[in-house]
Amino acid sequence: MVFFNDQGNMEWDFGLSSSLDEYDERQVVTLKHLIRHVSLDLDKEDTILWVHSVDKVYSVAEGVRVMLESNLDKEFDWVKIVWNKLVPSKIAIFHWLAIQGGVPVKEVLSFLHFLRDGSNDKCGWCTSEVESIDHLLLHCPWSHNVWSALFAWWNVVWVMPSSIIDFFIECFHGLGVNAKKTWRLIGPVSFWLIWLARNDFLFNGSYQSWRCVVEHVKIKVFQWLVNAGKVESHQMYV
Ligand SMILES: [Zn+2]
Repeated sequence: MVFFNDQGNMEWDFGLSSSLDEYDERQVVTLKHLIRHVSLDLDKEDTILWVHSVDKVYSVAEGVRVMLESNLDKEFDWVKIVWNKLVPSKIAIFHWLAIQGGVPVKEVLSFLHFLRDGSNDKCGWCTSEVESIDHLLLHCPWSHNVWSALFAWWNVVWVMPSSIIDFFIECFHGLGVNAKKTWRLIGPVSFWLIWLARNDFLFNGSYQSWRCVVEHVKIKVFQWLVNAGKVESHQMYV
């Protein structure tokens, strides 16, 4: 709700009754900043408007148009990179979740208040960094070893991307067409196998060497390529 302060200026009161944690407080500050210039017509009913079209009415076609016109989607080919028909659907869905920030790592669980106060939110492998999606799947030294070995397998010099989505935008510059096609398999299966290794370690106490994951990635990708008729089974070279 809004009210007018002593100077006659409109201010927002969100009516938050409970105390906020640090993250939520930052969200409120950001929200107040975003709406600081919004003026309300107090004589009109509240309504929801789709700001991307002239008539302010949302439709699925309008939503798709806006999505396709965004910079991200110009560079990011969802069909080829995520919904690749050679990748099993459960792995593709996991990949999509990772991009959307929906993998239940400790940081996400903590944000959703599923971790008890004071619970350890650190990565189980390095024990020093918060277990975020990008940390777990890319930046943790354990995972970094996986990626370094895979890029070395392809003789590719690479720089660690800042996020999962940047992985497919930044790392593939300079790769040939066939290499890109294969890396669209290597990326998702690596994310998936790193996740399984993490779960095995966290819930079963079973530590898996990153080298095992690397070999597993190579075998999986080769199997998919053989099944799709892209290579012959005797062509395997790792
Ligand atoms: Zn770590």
